[in-house]
Amino acid sequence: MLVARLNRRGISVTGVTKATLGLPDIANAWLRAGVSGLGDSRIENIDTLRRAKIEASIVLIRSPMLSQVDEVVALTDVSLNSELEVIRKLSFAAQQANRSHGVVLMIELGDLREGIMPDLLESTVAAVLRLSHISLEGIGTNLACRSGVSPSSTNMAELSSLADSLETAFGISIKTVSGGNSANLNWALSGGDTGRINNLRLGEALLLGCEPLHRQTVEGLYTDAITLVAEVIESKQKPSQPWGDIAQSAFGEVPQGDDIGNRVQSILAIGHQDIDPGGLRPPQGIDILGASSDHLVVDSSNSPNQFDVGDEVSFQLNYSALLRAMTSPYVAKVITNRESPSS
Ligand SMILES: *Cc1c(COP(=O)(O)O)cnc(C)c1O
Repeated sequence: MLVARLNRRGISVTGVTKATLGLPDIANAWLRAGVSGLGDSRIENIDTLRRAKIEASIVLIRSPMLSQVDEVVALTDVSLNSELEVIRKLSFAAQQANRSHGVVLMIELGDLREGIMPDLLESTVAAVLRLSHISLEGIGTNLACRSGVSPSSTNMAELSSLADSLETAFGISIKTVSGGNSANLNWALSGGDTGRINNLRLGEALLLGCEPLHRQTVEGLYTDAITLVAEVIESKQKPSQPWGDIAQSAFGEVPQGDDIGNRVQSILAIGHQDIDPGGLRPPQGIDILGASSDHLVVDSSNSPNQFDVGDEVSFQLNYSALLRAMTSPYVAKVITNRESPSS
């Protein structure tokens, strides 16, 4: 749905697999759905995708580590870059490997994560164009990640005009203008002028069906494509308040709350090592009371169903909980092929 809507506006979609650790099933589903290529922040995930025989274009979306330039050149076609020193090493690595490597120069537009300051862009481009085994694919920016700066008609117009002025200054063509991530969707789909922006790199919106600025559902998308299932290992009536001398818990929290008598308390076999407990949405009537490394404690007193040991409980996850669950070797990843009935 997003590919179709954005393509109509002249914008291609790079499917960002990093939150899934480069899970080939998901990458393949996105490629079948028409993404123009894949992106990941970790060369190890890209290696996973290549080992699964995925031949689509894959972009490394984090500036390469100097220690990994050989792998980057071997496994990807393009990387997002903001350091000349890295690009020089990429050129050298590409020369050694007898190939050419594409570079998208990231520009700092206010979120204060990666990017070249706009007034230094021209001198950087001049230096990049002198490198024998690098092709300048385009420019890009990334907003809303570190500081929550929203993509807007102003900062997107600035990116467009930088593309225009580079073309004029150097007589080159800037093929790709990559405007950002899922946080750009409101801007991109609002109907306003999208200027030179012809690519977005989308992860969260494709996985969770929401945009990250206000975490609203993107119209027409499912928000339950991914479900976390945890198993009950203890279920008992217990008091709502701890007793004894109370100090800090394992994760530095001081227990709070009122004495509301006996509650039905269950423990699920999942914890901080596997999820961000604050990022779980439990079923109706279930409250999350706390978590330690391997235990998630819930109160099911208000639920119509009580849990027995061995029962399974399903949760929806936010981006942070999803990322950690996908990273945990203790969480089995099961892919089902439930095609949407309405499509
Ligand atoms: C993570 C990331 C993305 C994807 O972000 P989402 O919010 O998941 O869409 C895009 N570009 C860069 C540079 C990233 O690091």
